[in-house]
Amino acid sequence: MAARWTTTSARLAPLAVAFVVPWLCYVLEAAEGAPWFWPPIGGGGDDPYCLTWRVMVEANNAKGWRTVPAQCVGYVRGYMAWGQYHRDVAAVAEQAAAYATQVAPPAGGDGLDAWVLDVDDTCLSNQPYYQVKQFGAYDPVAFRAWASRAICPGIPAMQWLLQTLRSRGFRVFVVTGRDEETLGSCTAANLAAAGFSGYDRLIMRGALHRGQSSVAFKSAVRRQLVEEEGYRIRGNVGDQWSDLQGDYAGDRVFKVPNPMYFVP
Ligand SMILES: [Mg+2]
Repeated sequence: MAARWTTTSARLAPLAVAFVVPWLCYVLEAAEGAPWFWPPIGGGGDDPYCLTWRVMVEANNAKGWRTVPAQCVGYVRGYMAWGQYHRDVAAVAEQAAAYATQVAPPAGGDGLDAWVLDVDDTCLSNQPYYQVKQFGAYDPVAFRAWASRAICPGIPAMQWLLQTLRSRGFRVFVVTGRDEETLGSCTAANLAAAGFSGYDRLIMRGALHRGQSSVAFKSAVRRQLVEEEGYRIRGNVGDQWSDLQGDYAGDRVFKVPNPMYFVP
């Protein structure tokens, strides 16, 4: 009797998994708590309104927005989790690498040709964190708790770009508005764990620049690199327009897509 029950259970188990898991995910999706791998109800991938909204965001026509429009939360989650985001980032990396090849310094040069890479959602992904909170407004306390765990996944295309830039003879500076005192060691550890190695310096926000806007802080960093240290910033890569604006922005800038949040 026990053996028959065991056999029957073994046969029914796959069926239970096949039906129960999708049902559970559907319920979680309806409750806006679905796991990252589950597609949003309704797909979200071709919503005309949300596609237009995302283009406005990436083109920097939409500014100062604090939340993803309610009807586009599922769209953004689908965009980020189901391949298009990583295809778009890979295309940015390929464009940057092609340009870097054109302007690569000659062998035996002075070693002062440099690139600047941002950290959050350029090298390291915060998608797991922002997805749970339905994207949108920056919350410094919650973000610090997330970042201090040092578990942000690396963004593969940017890891490849970093190695490509190094192989072309560029110096690479990784610049982030994260606070150095509270997040310095975990950010360095996270970058290393995510496969980002070989960059020249991780530059973070210190006491001198606390409270400054992203544009002001990153301009000050680049000014130091150029005016004080003599570097030529050939390229600059970031997911926010505020990474790419201001003084000494670089000969060319490359915008990594980010429809999750806006940093002024
Ligand atoms: Mg960023």
